[in-house]
Amino acid sequence: MAELILEPGKERSVMRRHPWIFAGSIATLHGRARAGDTVEIHSTKGDMLGHAAFSPNSQIRARMWNFDAQESVDHAFFKRRVAQSVARRTTHPHLAGQDGLRLIHGESDGLPGVIADRYGDVVVLQLTSAGGEKWKDAIISALVQATGCKCVYERSDSEVRRLEGLEPHAGIAYGELPETVVISENGVRMEVDVVHGHKTGFYLDQRDNRKLTGELAKDRSVLNCFCYTAGFSLQALAGGASAVLSIDSSGPALETARHNLALNPQLDSKRAEWLEADVFEALRLLRTQGRKFDLIVLDPPKFAPSAAHAQRAARAYKDINMLGFRLLNPGGILMTYSCSGGIGLELFQSIVAGAAVDAGVDARIVHRLGAGADHPIGLSVPEGEYLKGLVCQID
Ligand code: SAH
Repeated sequence: MAELILEPGKERSVMRRHPWIFAGSIATLHGRARAGDTVEIHSTKGDMLGHAAFSPNSQIRARMWNFDAQESVDHAFFKRRVAQSVARRTTHPHLAGQDGLRLIHGESDGLPGVIADRYGDVVVLQLTSAGGEKWKDAIISALVQATGCKCVYERSDSEVRRLEGLEPHAGIAYGELPETVVISENGVRMEVDVVHGHKTGFYLDQRDNRKLTGELAKDRSVLNCFCYTAGFSLQALAGGASAVLSIDSSGPALETARHNLALNPQLDSKRAEWLEADVFEALRLLRTQGRKFDLIVLDPPKFAPSAAHAQRAARAYKDINMLGFRLLNPGGILMTYSCSGGIGLELFQSIVAGAAVDAGVDARIVHRLGAGADHPIGLSVPEGEYLKGLVCQID
């Protein structure tokens, strides 16, 4: 096995159990290694720190599989890691009964570049690292064994794969894909398009926050911006909202959204209104029409994938939040999110605070939100924290 020797001092991050080794931290590579091969990681002094997946094309040149000189990285390793990850979910009271949940959350579950989401009998796998790609077969058979699922569908079509020198790939990896995949979230049925949907098909990370929306929505008029397939909208209807206007710029997303409403005959469809539009324009239009709402959800796409995009993204966040605050009735609630890794909680909160000042409202934070327990954040991998939400109530 090839040996990767770190520059002096660069072992400190590995010893704090951070899984990424950047190209600039590497002194030499003894032996030959191709993309995805397992390499030994050594400090300058010669201490063996663990094993990593080599990725010659990426700035993250290696990702740690373990921090243990003795443990081999083989089929049995992946069987153990996948089983542990699945068991963390089945033993958590919030997750145990869910049929839509994340089973493997990459680095934070000790499997860098590996995402696995469960939707009923289907597991959707997304591999974004050379190491994950190399061990694909082992990961798939471990998932089948740990979950008893009938199908593994691969959605390794994320653009970040290119940074690892990997081509996009999607298709059935195991079993047969059922014609439709429907999950139940907080008592609401949702169809998930695992083939064409965003990410692996659904935004599982917002499950708990959608539930809170339902709890806050009773007798309130709701505006759900960036509604995708209507997750927040249907929870609001289930919670007794008086009316829900949902906006998205994607026609296919709205089509699924309407279909999802029809899947839930217990909900009053007459209270639902849909608008295919750009949210930035629609919010201004609603203002000129004099419309007001009691509860507004803003769950936009990632405006800042990295810190380099933060400034432009900050302007976009401020704009929609300012417009959102202005559309609220007295006592109204704004549920506002950012899933941008490049915008931290502190910065997001200051953007929202600035938006409230510009809108001329007094507001306070009543809840701070993040992703659910199936999206854990490894204590040594703070980069794993991306979703933050603030629930603000105005006077
Ligand atoms: N809240 C959703 C997830 C939102 S994902 C849920 O709980 O499932 C972001 C959504 O924003 C996508 O559906 C995308 O189509 C939409 N979108 C992106 N840019 C937009 C824009 N400028 N105006 C309206 N919708 C937009």
